Amino acid sequence: MRAFILLLALSIVSLSWLNSAEARPGGGHSSSGHHSSSSHSSSSHGSFSHGSYSSHGSSSHSSRPMSNEELVIFLIIVIVFILIKMMEKRRNADSSLASMPTPVIRARRQDQVKQQLALLKQSDPNFSGILFLDFVHSLYSKFYSYSTHPEFRYLSPFLGADLQRHFDRAGPWTITEVVINGIKWQEINTEDPNGETICLVIDANYTLDLRGKRTRYAVTERWQFKRKKGLRSPEPEKMQSLCCPHCGAPAQFTDAGLCEYCARVIHQGDRQWYLARRAVLETTALAAADAVSYAEEQGTHLETIKQADLPEQMLRFQQQHGLSDWEDFWRPFVDDVVRAYFISIYSAWSHRDWQGARHLLSDRLFEANLFWQQLYAEQNWFNRLDDLNIGLAEVVKIELDPFYEAITVRIFASCYDYTEDAGGKLIGGSKRSLRRYSEYWTFVRRIGAEKSSAPYSINQCPQCGAPADNIGQTAVCGYCGAKISTGEFSWVLFLMMQDEAYEG
Ligand SMILES: [Zn+2]
Ligand SMILES: [Zn+2]
Repeated sequence: MRAFILLLALSIVSLSWLNSAEARPGGGHSSSGHHSSSSHSSSSHGSFSHGSYSSHGSSSHSSRPMSNEELVIFLIIVIVFILIKMMEKRRNADSSLASMPTPVIRARRQDQVKQQLALLKQSDPNFSGILFLDFVHSLYSKFYSYSTHPEFRYLSPFLGADLQRHFDRAGPWTITEVVINGIKWQEINTEDPNGETICLVIDANYTLDLRGKRTRYAVTERWQFKRKKGLRSPEPEKMQSLCCPHCGAPAQFTDAGLCEYCARVIHQGDRQWYLARRAVLETTALAAADAVSYAEEQGTHLETIKQADLPEQMLRFQQQHGLSDWEDFWRPFVDDVVRAYFISIYSAWSHRDWQGARHLLSDRLFEANLFWQQLYAEQNWFNRLDDLNIGLAEVVKIELDPFYEAITVRIFASCYDYTEDAGGKLIGGSKRSLRRYSEYWTFVRRIGAEKSSAPYSINQCPQCGAPADNIGQTAVCGYCGAKISTGEFSWVLFLMMQDEAYEG
């Protein structure tokens, strides 16, 4: 009987796991945990909500043993409860399927964004999506890590008037471990004579320390950026970090928005993008267990999403590099970059040596997964990826802008993916059922970087050729001092997307 009850209890547990994503680095984690979400808009500034704190209610137990009838009634109640839960689960699955954008709708939305992006690039040939996302990343992490601290005023040139006072009445709290998991382009408007806008949806996590109580949150937010119409984007060095748009000095401004170096006043949107509006769409409290929840792979059998004009873009890429045959680039790229990075990055991940892959990753990817690595270390868990095997790798997208080239590849692979503790106790996943999956990886390199990177070795600093054993957390080579996570000297992995989430 106990076994039966245990079995029932287990089935409840496994049901509650069905909704979550699997482990592995790069978006494999569930970024949303328990369903205690709440939403609010940017208008209620100074009091951003964090979902409800989870309360562990204490239930009273009766010490009298159950009679047989009571036991039967109890079991019936349990079974009915489970049936209701299963039906709910099925209903939820159906309704979420109905509300999920079909590939056609998704593709149409992506096409619209691409057209809008093309319009923006017509009026601003310096615009680089990669650099813009770097800028958003810097602003996002500083918006939270500075929030209730005096440094928040350093962000004044990049925030609308309302948002500059956003945390005035909040706190006192400290926000750390701000990690962006995903950024989606939602809308780009260049038609309005009052200014250009870019709207993004950001998925992120952060840890809030409020009076000694630490809670990890998953949030989804909509950020709308604005700037004057007809501007040209600043050069990469001024886009990769928050700095004075006039003199390029690190962002240090007075309350009035005066640069402490060049003493010029910065008006929002005059030279650089600023955050005009912000809405929190969802906030969810996370638990450690959310990191190791496993679910069926969803998108492995989906058709590969390819850029509409991929053949033209391949030709353009060839011309830019003076190649007569695409294969001359592609074959070494698949072996030396795609496969080599894939194996190295996953190996660093499963050995909990994320620093070992530092020189292969963009800052955002490194930071996003570093948090999870630390969480695994705290619990003393290991995410094992045994018998990792890479199958087909196909090119799906090539993007060229004045500063960067980006290549997105769909990679098929399989492995035994499970999490165990230091004593070998299984925490999640399976050692016996082989997991087949595919992911879309985007590699980025600065235009002109290929000159210094051949012959290529992933165990070396791409700038000076010294062993890649002395790369700091910020991806600065300890031998030559070069920062290598910006694709300046060689390819870096910029983005990892699960197949079911990739939109093109
Ligand atoms: Zn300045
Ligand atoms: Zn070096």
